[in-house]
Amino acid sequence: MSRNKKDFYDVLGVSRSASEDDIKKAYRKLALQYHPDRNPGNKESEEKFKEITEAYEVIGDPDKRARYDQFGHDAFMGGAGGGFGGGFGGVDLEEALRTFMGAFGGGGGGGGGIFDSFFGGGFDDRGRGGAVPGSDIRYDLEIEFEEAAFGGAREIEIPKLCECSSCGGEGAEPGTKRVTCKSCGGRGQVSSSAGFINILRTCGKCGGIGSVIQNPCKKCRGEGRIHLKKKISVKVPAGVETGSRLRITGAGEDGARGGHAGDLYVVIHVKAHELFERHGDDILCEMPVSFATAALGGSVDVPTLEGMTALKIPEGTQSGKIFRLKSKGIANIKGYGRGDQLVRVALETPMNLSAEQKQLLAKFAELSGEKHHPICRSFLEKAKKWFGPK
Ligand SMILES: [Zn+2]
Ligand SMILES: [Zn+2]
Repeated sequence: MSRNKKDFYDVLGVSRSASEDDIKKAYRKLALQYHPDRNPGNKESEEKFKEITEAYEVIGDPDKRARYDQFGHDAFMGGAGGGFGGGFGGVDLEEALRTFMGAFGGGGGGGGGIFDSFFGGGFDDRGRGGAVPGSDIRYDLEIEFEEAAFGGAREIEIPKLCECSSCGGEGAEPGTKRVTCKSCGGRGQVSSSAGFINILRTCGKCGGIGSVIQNPCKKCRGEGRIHLKKKISVKVPAGVETGSRLRITGAGEDGARGGHAGDLYVVIHVKAHELFERHGDDILCEMPVSFATAALGGSVDVPTLEGMTALKIPEGTQSGKIFRLKSKGIANIKGYGRGDQLVRVALETPMNLSAEQKQLLAKFAELSGEKHHPICRSFLEKAKKWFGPK
């Protein structure tokens, strides 16, 4: 479900580098616009209001924003809490309103973020056995327009925590073993008494594992993992667009002491193209055509993603006319063939005319009656009708 979730920055219409203040302003503006009080009974704006409030709850908070920047929506998934998406689905309008009031009520009010319960738990689930799972990693990859159209392979290098090759992720110097924690006697928990109440706490010495490393691995200082740069090849499927996320299972940070590795999320950013504009799977290209060619008809060379191709311009082609080149667009990401290329004619008025050219054009104008300019004529007729007879 998080896959289809809209990017929180997009929801608020701010850039990823927006300041805290900008985000607040953007939210305030949208919130006022979609506030249920202003749109009574309007389901759509109610949904929109929830959406922007949800986005602001995260990226309006520096800590949550940092987490979101790194992991996207997945920062709030998984773990014992039942997940972020499901959690928010249950938030009703009243709660969203409360949040709204909190955000504007001078900062004081705000009865605890809806999100608090979704954070915290589940993220760092150091298990009983001391296994530490690897974190997910987000990597932003910029690709060329053509790579998005046809797909390709990329090798990326990412800095991440990798399993220490010396101790195999255990953290103990090779040849040595962990020893029972003296502090808790191997139970992983210690009790302390306050009055007549006994409180059990996780042992601080061993972190609840029950054993400690006596001789830490020299290479990783007992952490079991070290920072390395790892090369990973990424297959970019044809048809991706800016914001597409590729998940590479297990390519995130390695776990320690038997913990599983995290996943790598590659977020695609497609560079703009000088000639083509993307519209879904179609691409649009503006094609300058000379006045004479448009009037007399002819052929022009049109750039496509695969090179130049000839396009027939019929006699009397108007500026703005769109020609469609079938299946010359971008491959559909789900494999439903390719989009088309649209070629929009942009008439170029001749410039820097010589005296002779000017003469000929003047002569041309003299010979041209209304019959040769039906669009001008019908426009004038409409205009006359509008103002009435003089
Ligand atoms: Zn080591
Ligand atoms: Zn202990």
